[in-house]
Amino acid sequence: MPLILPEFNLARLNTLASPVTAWAYTSVASREEVAEAIGYAKEYKLPVLPLGGGSNLVLAANLNALVVHLNLRGIELVDESDSEVWVRAQAGENWHEFVQYCLNMGWYGLENLSLIPGSVGAAPIQNIGAYGVELESVFAELSAIELSSQLAVTFTRDSCGFAYRDSVFKNRLKDQYIICDVTFKLQKTPQLVLGYPALAERLADIPETEITPQQVSAAVTAIRREKLPDPAQTPNAGSFFKNPMVPQAQFAALQQQYPDIVGYPDSASGQVKLAAGWLIDRAGFKGATRKSAAVHKDQALVLTNPGKQSARYVLELAREISATVNELYGVALEIEPRVYPSDDSAAAP
Ligand code: FAD
Ligand code: NAP
Repeated sequence: MPLILPEFNLARLNTLASPVTAWAYTSVASREEVAEAIGYAKEYKLPVLPLGGGSNLVLAANLNALVVHLNLRGIELVDESDSEVWVRAQAGENWHEFVQYCLNMGWYGLENLSLIPGSVGAAPIQNIGAYGVELESVFAELSAIELSSQLAVTFTRDSCGFAYRDSVFKNRLKDQYIICDVTFKLQKTPQLVLGYPALAERLADIPETEITPQQVSAAVTAIRREKLPDPAQTPNAGSFFKNPMVPQAQFAALQQQYPDIVGYPDSASGQVKLAAGWLIDRAGFKGATRKSAAVHKDQALVLTNPGKQSARYVLELAREISATVNELYGVALEIEPRVYPSDDSAAAP
């Protein structure tokens, strides 16, 4: 049975540094320990909160839950063909280290997702994405334990319901599974995605046919280090809002009023994806502060908690931003990280 620690302060385990306390905390390093932790929560009728790197969480108040910190480790090659490899990583592997491991092995497809904080196990939950690549494009399957039955279940790509920063684990199957490992299908020959302007500019000096996946990873890493606040210095949870999708007609109307509004056609939905950072910036919030919360001075999509106070102030600021953006542009912003506690956040085993 893993050690159960009561009244556990989570300040160091969430990148917003919100100093909330959980009813109890346990760190698990194997599937057996995951099952035992679930059994313990069941006995005490406690909700379970699976925790990875804590980089996509807003902990707004103390939690009446057992926090189960996924620390399962290991990476293995499970199969290969002439052109592809199938690689399985345990949930507690650090995402960026896993990306670097694969690059060193000559397994490609993850390079644009370099330096995203957090764990392998959380990556499918919001179908992590950056610089034109989403997890879904390299995903093969995952193995999870169902909280209610404690049985192991395999999810294929189709059964994960991946969409833009979304999956079934954020919707229909929210709070019902603990992901234990993820299998990726990667390429032996690079197929580079260089469409994002910031990335293309960074690599402009190298002829396109000579660019390597390692150079793409290094470029993404450098851009991110320059542009995004490091949570260790300035606590944050990355982009606080998803980029909203709007019908083409609404985009055209917005363009009439705001000729420099930033939007990209989304082929999957037939809509236009608006850059939420632009909307927030133009609404006058870049660099704004309210109580202990702030909007980052270089990237308006990132809300910060410089004073390491309760994340509830960050939420208050987020609500003010949403209301103003809705009033100005008629566009609803959706918070991207998971907020706790929330009315429906109980994950009763
Ligand atoms: P956590 O924050 O620990 O958990 C997030 C949610 O997943 C919680 O609801 C938790 O209960 C659940 N969960 C975690 N692990 C498991 C598991 N094994 N089984 C079941 N449920 C689980 N995201 C992007 O998509 N693209 C980016 O480019 C990006 N950049 C970021 C930059 C910064 C500076 C920061 C702070 C965040 C960024 N994010 C980005 C968000 C975040 O890094 C990702 O969502 C990441 O996948 C979260 O991983 P985590 O392990 O920290 O999850
Ligand atoms: P950016 O390059 O300044 O671009 C601004 C926005 O425009 C981004 O949100 C991006 O959408 C969109 N965009 C840019 N070029 C595009 C293209 N060619 N096609 C379609 N959409 C395009 O963005 P940034 O803030 O510096 O972030 C860079 C990348 O890292 C983005 O992919 C972003 O999602 C990711 N990121 C995510 C988080 C997070 O917490 N979720 C945090 C930091 C960075 P998309 O966001 O849909 O890509």
